[in-house]
Amino acid sequence: MLPLVALVGRPNVGKSTLFNVLTRTRDALVHDEPGVTRDRNYGVARPEGRPAFAVVDTGGIAGEDEGLAGATARQARAAAEEADVVLFVVDGREGPSALDDEILQWLRRTGRPTVLVVNKTDGIDAQQALNEFVRYGLSDRIAVAASHRHGVDALLARVYAHL
Ligand code: GDP
Ligand code: MG
Repeated sequence: MLPLVALVGRPNVGKSTLFNVLTRTRDALVHDEPGVTRDRNYGVARPEGRPAFAVVDTGGIAGEDEGLAGATARQARAAAEEADVVLFVVDGREGPSALDDEILQWLRRTGRPTVLVVNKTDGIDAQQALNEFVRYGLSDRIAVAASHRHGVDALLARVYAHL
């Protein structure tokens, strides 16, 4: 069985975009509407010259008044709990939100190795975007722009460090 990497985060941060970049498919629905990916969506990443790993995209934790207890969130939590590495995706333009804080608390309890992926850093100061999340205490953090494929190689290096 392939090692499993889970994409977790609130809706609209770019999880599905990153899923598509990692798996080189257009399977995941990328949408401006939050919460488009309802169920878990599995794919395989086959980076050149490196071992393959499975990737699971999730619908995102939240959805209006659902919070961490909602059906979509349950899927995301189940995915994270079975993952070898969790990619906690956040929006580098918006900075930390209350929902991100909530997800972080829960992720800490799962004890899964977690990489903080600060996405959408195209056209902004990536270092500053990263700094906004320092208080999250995740030493493993990286700035990317999934829709531009920026930072993906560096992200892969972080992933393989945990596999
Ligand atoms: P998800 O709900 O977390 O799966 O987010 P999506 O992958 O569906 O993306 C939500 C929106 O953010 C879409 O409009 C994407 O095109 C946009 N997006 C994703 N990644 C980036 C990025 O790196 N930079 C910018 N500027 N927009 C992005
Ligand atoms: Mg999605």
